[in-house]
Amino acid sequence: MATKIIYFTVNGRPEQAEFPMDCPAQDVKDLFRSAAEAGPHDILKLYNPKGNIINISPNLEPNSPNSCYKLEVVAADCNSEPLGIFNLTTWESQCLSSYRNKVGLPSFLVISGTELAGALGFDLSTMEKRLQGLEKKILFEAGETPAVVYEMKKQVDSFREKLESVEHLSWLGLFKDLTDGTHKPSPFYHKRTLHKTKKECEHVREKFLQMSSLEVSDEVRQYLKTPTFDNWQWEDTEIMVLLQVMYTDLDFIATFNIEPEVLQQFLFEVYRRYNNIPFHNFKHCFCVTQMMYGLIWLTDLKSKMDSIDLLIMLTSAVCHDLDHTGYNNAYQINARTELALRYNDISPLENHHCAVAFEILEKTESNIFRNLSMDQYKRIREGIIKCILATDMTRHNEILSKFKSILPAFDFTNKDHRDVLMMILIKVSDISNEARPMEVAEPWLDCLLQEFYNQSDVEKLEGLPVTPFMDRDKVTKPSSQTGFIRFVLLPLFIELANLFPCLEQHIIDPVRKALDYYTEMEKALERKKQNRAQNENTAKSKETTVGAQSTMGSHTDAGPEASKPDTQ
Ligand code: 5GP
Ligand code: MN
Repeated sequence: MATKIIYFTVNGRPEQAEFPMDCPAQDVKDLFRSAAEAGPHDILKLYNPKGNIINISPNLEPNSPNSCYKLEVVAADCNSEPLGIFNLTTWESQCLSSYRNKVGLPSFLVISGTELAGALGFDLSTMEKRLQGLEKKILFEAGETPAVVYEMKKQVDSFREKLESVEHLSWLGLFKDLTDGTHKPSPFYHKRTLHKTKKECEHVREKFLQMSSLEVSDEVRQYLKTPTFDNWQWEDTEIMVLLQVMYTDLDFIATFNIEPEVLQQFLFEVYRRYNNIPFHNFKHCFCVTQMMYGLIWLTDLKSKMDSIDLLIMLTSAVCHDLDHTGYNNAYQINARTELALRYNDISPLENHHCAVAFEILEKTESNIFRNLSMDQYKRIREGIIKCILATDMTRHNEILSKFKSILPAFDFTNKDHRDVLMMILIKVSDISNEARPMEVAEPWLDCLLQEFYNQSDVEKLEGLPVTPFMDRDKVTKPSSQTGFIRFVLLPLFIELANLFPCLEQHIIDPVRKALDYYTEMEKALERKKQNRAQNENTAKSKETTVGAQSTMGSHTDAGPEASKPDTQ
């Protein structure tokens, strides 16, 4: 009798089937089913070399080993759940009870999956093989990732990379610190790697100590007394030398008997405890201190207040943001950080900066006040605490109002008046970047916004309230500055200039210039935005016209068949 030979692969394995030309259709199907080791409920699909599904029937086109078909077990029929011990079908339950009877198993005895499968007439090893085949197929098909899934995968990967590589997100516990193998993931930002490394500090310390004995020129010493000083020209070690110059030139070394090594150790500890973050870093500490130093000279404060007050002011500026984590108080409170818990939500950061300052001063080798009397130390401690706590911006209006109220009868001999003035001076210094030349001030704004944006990103990630003035979707450079200068900076600076009119040219004029600069920038941005919107609208309306034409064209080309619903 004439037979047909059909060549095909199943699970990558070559097979060939031979059957008589007049073989019944069911027999041919069973033949392929057994070749695929498929169960009675499985669906078989046979593909020709073109990838088209062809019917498994006696009429199959004979082929050669070079043009073999591909047989696939596409899906097992899950309804019968052959191993579903907890959901046995009636038929399965009957099989099981007859098996129990046959082997004499009491109904309360639990039987194993293999025994059960045997009882139900399944060959487990065959099923396992089929399962492996299916697994392979799933893995293979998963390799052909659709574009949209691929795009999502790419986004997830890049997001994961960001989480792993951005240091200030390391509280998530995903950060891979390549510089220091000792870091532990922690939910608290300030416990992590944004601290300076030991190696980094040692290097800076050595360099600073080598430099500290060098003489700083008179030219630099004079320049250091002006608000036009450019911090960006100086390295951290040089900055430490400049801070040393400030203590020297205000006569603190001589007046308070500060040993040079103790001052150097103090400045090194301060350097060490400012973190590597975009804005609230050691350079910010220097800028605030340098502005305070400049204000002391410009207003000739040495002739109006005693040295202890000046020492309080300068040291407060040096210490005012120690160990800042790059997240403001609102974040600390909302995220219920260790700091917020410790300080009961009351100026957590400022309390912490101050506590770190006195930690440094507690060590004899870095206590620049160690040769002072108990009373002097007490007064200094009280003064520094007052000044640093005054830098919490939520107290801005309270402090400014107090200053305004005493201004008409300001009296330098009145301690309360002096205290408020000291608070105002540190506040002015703290937010004085815009009083500096534009080329110095503008990079600072970039740093500030970087830190702001980081915080709002984290707030979004953590599902915390997003601080509006930090939101990268809402805030731009000019929008951030125009409001801040108008409503915070100028009102504060103007009051200080009321007491010291000579400051007008030094700090008010440049701030007004900055306001003009950012107002212009804001207008330019607005124009750009409007132009872009206009261009987009024009492009869209063009697209609609072209689109409408091409849609009409495609209808004509495709003919009436094109509007039929897909029946495949
Ligand atoms: P600090 O955190 O440095 O002790 O306090 C000053 C705060 O005032 C900063 O955190 C920041 O919120 C705000 N600030 C200081 N300078 C600027 C500035 O130039 N622009 C804006 N928008 N905010 C500033
Ligand atoms: Mn500050």
